[in-house]
Amino acid sequence: MEKIKRHIIKQNKTRIKMNKTCQSCGMPMKRDPKSGGTNADGSKNEMYCSYCYQSGKFTQPEITTPEQMQDFCVEKMKEMGFPRIIGRFFTRNVPKLERWKEK
Ligand SMILES: [Zn+2]
Repeated sequence: MEKIKRHIIKQNKTRIKMNKTCQSCGMPMKRDPKSGGTNADGSKNEMYCSYCYQSGKFTQPEITTPEQMQDFCVEKMKEMGFPRIIGRFFTRNVPKLERWKEK
Protein backbone atom coordinates (compact mmCIF):
# COMPACT_ATOMS: atom_id res chain seq x y z
CA MET A 1 0.00 0.00 0.00
CA GLU A 2 2.74 2.40 1.02
CA LYS A 3 4.56 1.64 -2.21
CA ILE A 4 1.50 2.51 -4.32
CA LYS A 5 1.01 5.75 -2.44
CA ARG A 6 4.58 6.78 -3.05
CA HIS A 7 4.21 5.94 -6.72
CA ILE A 8 1.11 8.14 -7.04
CA ILE A 9 2.82 11.04 -5.27
CA LYS A 10 5.74 10.71 -7.64
CA GLN A 11 3.40 10.75 -10.65
CA ASN A 12 1.61 13.83 -9.39
CA LYS A 13 4.88 15.65 -8.91
CA THR A 14 5.92 14.92 -12.48
CA ARG A 15 2.62 16.21 -13.82
CA ILE A 16 2.82 19.45 -11.84
CA LYS A 17 6.34 19.96 -13.10
CA MET A 18 5.22 19.56 -16.71
CA ASN A 19 2.40 22.09 -16.48
CA LYS A 20 3.97 24.54 -14.16
CA THR A 21 2.61 27.60 -15.90
CA CYS A 22 -0.74 28.45 -17.39
CA GLN A 23 -0.58 27.90 -21.17
CA SER A 24 -2.59 31.04 -21.80
CA CYS A 25 -1.09 33.76 -19.60
CA GLY A 26 2.09 32.10 -18.30
CA MET A 27 1.25 32.54 -14.64
CA PRO A 28 2.82 29.90 -12.38
CA MET A 29 0.08 27.43 -11.44
CA LYS A 30 1.13 27.53 -7.82
CA ARG A 31 0.05 31.17 -7.70
CA ASP A 32 -3.43 30.22 -8.85
CA PRO A 33 -5.56 29.82 -5.69
CA LYS A 34 -7.60 27.13 -7.48
CA SER A 35 -4.49 25.60 -9.11
CA GLY A 36 -6.17 25.28 -12.48
CA GLY A 37 -9.17 26.15 -14.60
CA THR A 38 -12.31 24.06 -15.00
CA ASN A 39 -13.67 22.08 -17.95
CA ALA A 40 -17.28 22.24 -19.16
CA ASP A 41 -18.12 19.16 -17.07
CA GLY A 42 -16.67 20.74 -13.93
CA SER A 43 -13.48 18.70 -13.88
CA LYS A 44 -10.13 20.38 -13.41
CA ASN A 45 -8.22 21.75 -16.36
CA GLU A 46 -4.51 21.69 -15.64
CA MET A 47 -3.40 23.43 -18.77
CA TYR A 48 -4.91 26.83 -17.99
CA CYS A 49 -5.28 28.76 -14.75
CA SER A 50 -8.61 29.63 -13.16
CA TYR A 51 -8.26 33.27 -14.31
CA CYS A 52 -8.02 32.26 -17.97
CA TYR A 53 -10.27 29.20 -18.23
CA GLN A 54 -13.61 28.50 -16.52
CA SER A 55 -16.27 25.92 -17.37
CA GLY A 56 -14.60 24.98 -20.63
CA LYS A 57 -14.27 28.53 -21.93
CA PHE A 58 -11.65 31.23 -21.91
CA THR A 59 -12.66 34.02 -19.56
CA GLN A 60 -11.48 36.74 -21.96
CA PRO A 61 -12.68 35.72 -25.43
CA GLU A 62 -11.84 39.23 -26.66
CA ILE A 63 -8.15 38.42 -26.23
CA THR A 64 -7.11 36.69 -29.43
CA THR A 65 -3.39 37.41 -29.75
CA PRO A 66 -0.43 36.89 -27.38
CA GLU A 67 0.27 40.63 -27.57
CA GLN A 68 -3.19 41.39 -26.18
CA MET A 69 -2.62 38.85 -23.43
CA GLN A 70 0.72 40.44 -22.57
CA ASP A 71 -0.87 43.88 -22.34
CA PHE A 72 -3.67 42.47 -20.19
CA CYS A 73 -1.20 40.83 -17.79
CA VAL A 74 1.02 43.90 -17.59
CA GLU A 75 -2.03 45.98 -16.66
CA LYS A 76 -3.11 43.43 -14.06
CA MET A 77 0.35 43.36 -12.54
CA LYS A 78 0.43 47.16 -12.48
CA GLU A 79 -2.77 47.06 -10.44
CA MET A 80 -0.98 44.71 -8.08
CA GLY A 81 1.85 47.21 -7.73
CA PHE A 82 4.42 45.82 -10.16
CA PRO A 83 6.17 48.30 -12.46
CA ARG A 84 5.51 47.94 -16.19
CA ILE A 85 9.03 46.69 -16.89
CA ILE A 86 8.56 43.80 -14.46
CA GLY A 87 5.25 42.95 -16.13
CA ARG A 88 6.96 42.88 -19.51
CA PHE A 89 9.63 40.60 -18.13
CA PHE A 90 7.13 38.11 -16.72
CA THR A 91 5.03 38.02 -19.87
CA ARG A 92 7.92 37.73 -22.35
CA ASN A 93 7.22 34.03 -22.98
CA VAL A 94 3.48 34.36 -23.56
CA PRO A 95 3.76 33.97 -27.37
CA LYS A 96 5.40 30.57 -26.87
CA LEU A 97 2.53 29.10 -24.82
CA GLU A 98 0.20 26.38 -26.14
CA ARG A 99 -2.82 28.66 -26.55
CA TRP A 100 -0.98 30.89 -29.01
CA LYS A 101 0.70 28.18 -31.08
CA GLU A 102 -0.46 27.89 -34.72
CA LYS A 103 -4.06 28.68 -35.59
ZN1 LIG B 1 -3.84 31.87 -17.15
